Amino acid sequence: MRIDLHTHTTASDGLLSPEQLVEKARQAGVQVLAVCDHDSTEGVDPAVAAGKRSGVEVIPAVEINTDVDQGEVHVLGYFLDHRQGWLQEFLRKLRDGRVNRAKQMVEKLNALGIKIDFARVRELARGAIGRPHVAWAIVEAGAAKSVDEAFTRYIGRNGPAYVERLKVLPEEAVRVILRAGGIPVLAHPGWGFHEPLIPQLVAAGLEGLEVYYPDHTPAMQAHFLSLANQHGLLVTGGTDYHGEGFATKAAIGSQYVPPEVVEKLKERYAEKQKLGAGTQPS
Ligand SMILES: [Zn+2]
Ligand SMILES: [Zn+2]
Repeated sequence: MRIDLHTHTTASDGLLSPEQLVEKARQAGVQVLAVCDHDSTEGVDPAVAAGKRSGVEVIPAVEINTDVDQGEVHVLGYFLDHRQGWLQEFLRKLRDGRVNRAKQMVEKLNALGIKIDFARVRELARGAIGRPHVAWAIVEAGAAKSVDEAFTRYIGRNGPAYVERLKVLPEEAVRVILRAGGIPVLAHPGWGFHEPLIPQLVAAGLEGLEVYYPDHTPAMQAHFLSLANQHGLLVTGGTDYHGEGFATKAAIGSQYVPPEVVEKLKERYAEKQKLGAGTQPS
């Protein structure tokens, strides 16, 4: 059984539409797929509908980008009720922050003599705009040879055109996902400074750890499994697939995720449903 609980669509920085993503998953033999766009659930309904047509089970999800002093922390939310108005308002605020940030980066790049147009960045982004789209525009303008180089030279944390994000703490993302009836999971905990944050996120209500991830070595995987046990956390996993070529570490469905991961996620979701979580009026 192939499972991929971490994928992106054009609703954020993925290259495939929700329908194309589901088709790609079907071709790869993926039976359970979660669509986790950055700060957006716009891809969820079309993916669920496409999944119903082609026999791929699609789990609604999101990946909220948050910030701590050391950098970004991503919090996944599974089975959240994405139709809630207050949640959409929260996500919209994050996306607007992205747009403003991209505009400011374009201004800084223009001031550096790099001629890129914000309209082009928006066009490249299609969905939620992010630094990768600015990087593509830089490459298109011939000011860097690759997205990596665009980051290193211009828009990386220490680059001359870097602009801070609208800050959201990971704890806030955890609370938002819980309030929407979802299961908050720390994404790719192998990213440098993430591990020391786990106890405080557990205190805020974190319920899972993304143990199975292409960047994780077998030793890291074993370590995160034991950490999850220690804190009573669920485990999840996926490829973080963005479409071929761009920001993609592994082919869709190629990261081994044990089937009981999905069973346990569903059990937790059923428990929440029973308790009426996420149905509070806002
Ligand atoms: Zn992420
Ligand atoms: Zn991701």
